[in-house]
Amino acid sequence: MSWHDHANCRGMALEIFYVGSRIDQERMLPEAKAACDGCSVRSQCLEEAIQQGDVDGVRGGLLGRERRVLIRHRKSLIPKKERPDHGTRSGYLWELRNGHVPCRECRTADNRYKAKTRGGYVYGPARF
Ligand code: SF4
Ligand SMILES: [Zn+2]
Repeated sequence: MSWHDHANCRGMALEIFYVGSRIDQERMLPEAKAACDGCSVRSQCLEEAIQQGDVDGVRGGLLGRERRVLIRHRKSLIPKKERPDHGTRSGYLWELRNGHVPCRECRTADNRYKAKTRGGYVYGPARF
């Protein structure tokens, strides 16, 4: 038995949750939201919709656009990647991406990487 068996919307017409025109939405969505309000598996349903990237219709009590807002909000809570060490290729890439002129140590690391992978010229002193 899965959580789907406990869904309030079991047996209800799918069109109540996925409606096309704006007029239909205004008429049908209150019914969909009412079903979700009393649903015991609402949170599982919402998480599944988010996992599946489903941003249409009502799922887990939220409209597609409301889920999009929630997804954006969750993403904003993920901490940005910290700056890697200088003297590394990832440091070089980070500096470029973040609008800095790459420092000498990072440029050297990048050149070393390119030399290894493409046979390019290596600048700067060896670090090992
Ligand atoms: S939350 Fe709504 S869409 Fe999800 S299972 Fe329950 S009734 Fe169905
Ligand atoms: Zn650097």
